[in-house]
Amino acid sequence: MSDSSDLTAFIAGLPKAELHVHHVGSASPRIVAELAARHPEAGVPADPEALAEYFTFTDFAHFIKVYLAVVSLIRDAEDVRLLTYEIARDMARQSIRYAELTVTPYSSVSRGIPDGAFLEAIEDARRSAERELGVVLRWTFDIPGEAGLESAEETARIATEMTPEGLISFGLGGPEIGVPRPQFKPYFDRALAVGLHSVPHAGETTGPETIWDALTSLRAERIGHGTSAVRDPRLLEHLAENRIPLEVCPTSNIATRAVESLENHPLAEMVKAGVLVTINSDDPPMFGTDLNTEYGIAARLLGLDAPGLAALARNAVEVSFLDTAGKARLCEEIDTYLAGWQRPK
Ligand SMILES: [Zn+2]
Repeated sequence: MSDSSDLTAFIAGLPKAELHVHHVGSASPRIVAELAARHPEAGVPADPEALAEYFTFTDFAHFIKVYLAVVSLIRDAEDVRLLTYEIARDMARQSIRYAELTVTPYSSVSRGIPDGAFLEAIEDARRSAERELGVVLRWTFDIPGEAGLESAEETARIATEMTPEGLISFGLGGPEIGVPRPQFKPYFDRALAVGLHSVPHAGETTGPETIWDALTSLRAERIGHGTSAVRDPRLLEHLAENRIPLEVCPTSNIATRAVESLENHPLAEMVKAGVLVTINSDDPPMFGTDLNTEYGIAARLLGLDAPGLAALARNAVEVSFLDTAGKARLCEEIDTYLAGWQRPK
């Protein structure tokens, strides 16, 4: 199983779980074209081909521009429902069976979509996606760190007082530089008190001390990115011993310049230290990638064959917050797929 086109085909059909992927950041040119057609006054092209070009990643500043253009197209609850359901359709095409989608309710609510209508829209999309596409979605509600404590308060309020059925965890995104993690402790405490899991971003653009902060102040159960963990052997040991997984997003790390190049990506070092890693796509269309591409990159960086890739896919299922029966089903599906692949044809 060394032929890379064979591995690409294996990855395409491999049943997968994704744990670190953003809602608005998953809007593909196809989805944006639909949203743009709903709101011609926004001035975003509604032609998927023109959009594909617009989406071509050039640098991080361009990513922010595209991201904000998409945000400006999400104006009512129907836009939210459409975006969410169509993301699930893109996931189904990649054999993603389960995803913990990071949703930022604050950005929609602060732009005038009522919180109740927002939640109803994502929940409606979630139920339809499961029924019609076979994709199980769960939510991580994250605080947009750059929007300050007001956004933290609002996110905690929606998460703890309105708690939609699909909500399972509480996160923290946005820039890390100048946004210390410990100030968000009270909000994470409230979220954890109602049974949500803690999954903040940390150590992507700052050093390992931010990861320690996320562990001690925010009681992180998984770390979003955590790329700088490799600079601190004691932290690597702590993560490995306590089985605290890292949600690694290779292409995103290059795009944001958290890591200089794929050749310098610390993924192999993390694995060598015994840390549990999962492979994710973060903001896939905006970084010109998708989960299958990220698995291909991981295969290359870690020298994995089909069984190794299946083990990586199983990692994500095992450290997800899916219920026990759901995890068992999905792991079995992965095993069956691998066995079918290995059988001589
Ligand atoms: Zn992220």
